[in-house]
Amino acid sequence: MNSIFADKVYPGSKIMKNKPLERVAYCLSFVICLISLSSYTYDGHSQDTTSKYKIKTIVVDAGHGGHTGAKGSYSTEEQVTLAIALKLQKAIEKEVQGTKVVMTRTTPAGVSLQSRSDIANAANGDLFISIHCNALPDRVVTVHGKKKRVPDQSGRGVLELVYRYGRDNEEAAAIRENLFEEQASKEVKAMLDPANLILLNEFKRKYRKNSIMFAGMVNDEFVETDGRPSDGVKEQGILVLCHTAMPSILIETGFIDNPKEEDFLNSEDGQNEIVSTIVRAIQKYKATLEQAL
Ligand SMILES: [Zn+2]
Repeated sequence: MNSIFADKVYPGSKIMKNKPLERVAYCLSFVICLISLSSYTYDGHSQDTTSKYKIKTIVVDAGHGGHTGAKGSYSTEEQVTLAIALKLQKAIEKEVQGTKVVMTRTTPAGVSLQSRSDIANAANGDLFISIHCNALPDRVVTVHGKKKRVPDQSGRGVLELVYRYGRDNEEAAAIRENLFEEQASKEVKAMLDPANLILLNEFKRKYRKNSIMFAGMVNDEFVETDGRPSDGVKEQGILVLCHTAMPSILIETGFIDNPKEEDFLNSEDGQNEIVSTIVRAIQKYKATLEQAL
């Protein structure tokens, strides 16, 4: 679950106002990008025109772990996302030639959001796919004059989320405000240089464009091939997607608090269908980018 209702949704402005240390980490993660800019164009393509751009590393992130996330009547989001993610790992390695998969977790133990991004960035990932299940908040009804909370099991279908950018000036101002001069490392100071901020923004825009393109391909496969209901592709300020230096999407694979969808999400057939759908979208995305040069 990662919707506006109950999960790790962080409006961009909220990220800015608090936690200066997180902002430093944010800066540092993008310093890696800036260093990489010497060998990459904004298209994410190597400047060496003799070697074509290839998608080599796909990071699969099983949402939650450590007893967090949404719950159904007999299963939990953390169990379902891990089962789907492990199947997805095998399917990608078998069916998407020339790619390896890096997992952010392979056990029920929780992994922090920053660690997930760190794993993805350290692996030089080309694509980050976070697997989640959705859930609705309780409805409040009035029974005999008293307000009562009842489960809302009406949620259906899929949703793809990409990180909402667009507050770059605000981010830069917040970073400056919260970093004491003597604490700022050379790299962070370099990042705040206006020329570097322009490069950084261009880089982020490229991630956003490809994230939206891939999310659209995943959504099309869910809707047109599988006939799943969908809320489509949305942009939200989701922290796990914000620190990854690569195109990144979060897939809500179904509503675990809807009994029918919980059965589907827990079934072998359901999990295999979801995995096949994501794999087809990866193949399409890979072919599109690799043929672009
Ligand atoms: Zn979730």
